[in-house]
Amino acid sequence: MIVMEEAAYGYGTEPLLADLSLQLQPGSFHFLTGPSGAGKTTFLKLCYAELLPTAGRIQLLGVDAAALDRDGVADLRRRIGVVHQDCQFLDHLPTSENIALPLTVSGRATPDQAANLSDLVSWVGLKSRAHALPPELSGGERQRAALARAIIMDPDVILADEPTGNVDWDMSLRLLQLLVELNRMGKTVVIATHDLALIRAAKSQVQARVLRIQGGHVTVAGADL
Ligand code: ADP
Ligand code: ADP
Repeated sequence: MIVMEEAAYGYGTEPLLADLSLQLQPGSFHFLTGPSGAGKTTFLKLCYAELLPTAGRIQLLGVDAAALDRDGVADLRRRIGVVHQDCQFLDHLPTSENIALPLTVSGRATPDQAANLSDLVSWVGLKSRAHALPPELSGGERQRAALARAIIMDPDVILADEPTGNVDWDMSLRLLQLLVELNRMGKTVVIATHDLALIRAAKSQVQARVLRIQGGHVTVAGADL
């Protein structure tokens, strides 16, 4: 799904991330961990071609990220769902309309997808909140709405940036459960988090690989977490 070959990225002249060589296989479940500022968000941005590597190569769903034209990027964004750290809602639109936004924007909603909206809203447990505006939602409700919006186009890959950042432990587990279920449906899942307890909690539910970003490098963490 995602293949990096000696890829690097830097915002300035200094590389922030270097020597990234790894493969995220279809259907795999990955955690991406590391201290704040380590580059987790940057890594995820490389995974959906928001940023292009400043050296090396990155293949996303079989296509060289550097070779993507506008249509290629648009197509990729339909196949890779992103749960942004700050959720990025339009505050004047009801929650259900925010969730449906990718469908509305693409202008390519199939009747099936439109019908799926209410199922999806129920699945994330927001049926009674569908008409609420985003500022009225709790932290956990916001994260579930952001997850629903990320998967409304039925993507192959889901990238979640600190999805449990502002929620209590029970809600963290619930969000994890939803992501594990999506993985069981065959979707590739990557969760950036600094919450090691969440990673431990996942161990009994899913075979997850833990990638650790440290000092600009990504390594596969051992069993000592
Ligand atoms: P995180 O909690 O993942 O560290 P940040 O608060 O660092 O997130 O970043 C939030 C957003 O602001 C991201 O989209 C990031 O790219 C951007 N950002 C972070 N640091 C800078 C910076 N020094 N200059 C410009 N944008 C930044
Ligand atoms: P993390 O998600 O692990 O907290 P980020 O990827 O958000 O880390 O940021 C890694 C580093 O890159 C931080 O030092 C941040 O300030 C810097 N950074 C992030 N976005 C930008 C940006 N747009 N411009 C300049 N520096 C940035």
